[in-house]
Amino acid sequence: MDLYEHQARELFAQYGVLVPEAEVAATAREARAAAERLGGRVVVKAQVKTGGRGKAGGVKIAADPAAAELTARQILGMDIKGHSVRSVMLAQPVSIEAEFYVSYVLDRAAGRFLAIASAEGGMDIEEVAANRPDAVARIAVDPADGVTPAKAAEIAEAAKLPPEVAPVLQRLWQVLTEEDALLVEVNPLARTTDGRILALDGKVTLDDNAVFRQARWGGDAADPHADPLEATAAAKGLNYVKLDGEVGVIGNGAGLVMSTLDVVAGCGARPANFLDIGGGASAEVMADGLSVVLSDPAVKSVFVNVFGGITACDAVAEGIVQALESVQLTCPLVVRLDGNAAARGRAILNGRAHPLIHQATTMDSAADQAAQLANAG
Ligand code: ADP
Ligand code: MG
Repeated sequence: MDLYEHQARELFAQYGVLVPEAEVAATAREARAAAERLGGRVVVKAQVKTGGRGKAGGVKIAADPAAAELTARQILGMDIKGHSVRSVMLAQPVSIEAEFYVSYVLDRAAGRFLAIASAEGGMDIEEVAANRPDAVARIAVDPADGVTPAKAAEIAEAAKLPPEVAPVLQRLWQVLTEEDALLVEVNPLARTTDGRILALDGKVTLDDNAVFRQARWGGDAADPHADPLEATAAAKGLNYVKLDGEVGVIGNGAGLVMSTLDVVAGCGARPANFLDIGGGASAEVMADGLSVVLSDPAVKSVFVNVFGGITACDAVAEGIVQALESVQLTCPLVVRLDGNAAARGRAILNGRAHPLIHQATTMDSAADQAAQLANAG
């Protein structure tokens, strides 16, 4: 579960990381009053659980409370990458001398955390990482050791950050471990012209397995601000994660779905989502899954990849056929059935002879077909 910037800010402050004074407002009126309390001149920031707000026009400076009210009116209700803005944070502006990037992320493969840091933080960090990887330091952190003063100094030095950033790195590590987070990212971590180190933006992702210990944040299921498709899927009990591509992916079993995402990417297309329908996929689950995947306007083709085991392929095929009664196919569906009762499953789909349903016998050929259809459509 991701936290909002203002929640991350609250955590940072709790652990002694300096942050600008700020307040949250849900209406333009409230924004004006908050700006008055904060001294007049404020940064108005959209509160949405997605990055790149600055570039999308969701972070603006306002010279006085009247301007803050106007700016808040513009930003509230804005759509940023499918997230509608329901609240803004008003923050005191600080005078920035340099912007750094720092984060801790879980490196599952290595069984460790990774500290990622750069002296070239700010809104273009993705470009820096892509074009000049040398400017981004990556240092493994063994969770058993944590970020000791020596480790913090090592990270700061590797990223060419000023040494006074090191204590902040230790406090952010404390946020990560003590708050059950899988990701803590600060971009920018700024050095102000008066020499202070302040976290001006923050992203914190909590481990969903620990959400019961983090009741103070309310939980994601009850969160109307989460990604709208993910919220719909969660309400239907589906294991769905929205991604940025065009090929919808539905499969049974998390491992198969993960490798399906890789194969789609290998065919030169981008997966639009992760959706694991799990074992015992009923017609109803298939219909729910298809309707969620197809309601993503970015989806140009859907790849259904099922390896029949406990869930037999004929049941899945029946599920697809029944799903067509309640869901209208708006783009091609490429189905690959293998394993238990695959032949019967294929025969059922052939019998339905839907013009938008294509069948493939291997995962690679199916991914290739889905990618081509997405790139053509
Ligand atoms: P996002 O990363 O979603 O674009 P940020 O919070 O990082 O949003 O804001 C974008 C930029 O706005 C920052 O890189 C920083 O330059 C500027 N900024 C943000 N907050 C403040 C602040 N309190 N004072 C001065 N500048 C700020
Ligand atoms: Mg930022």
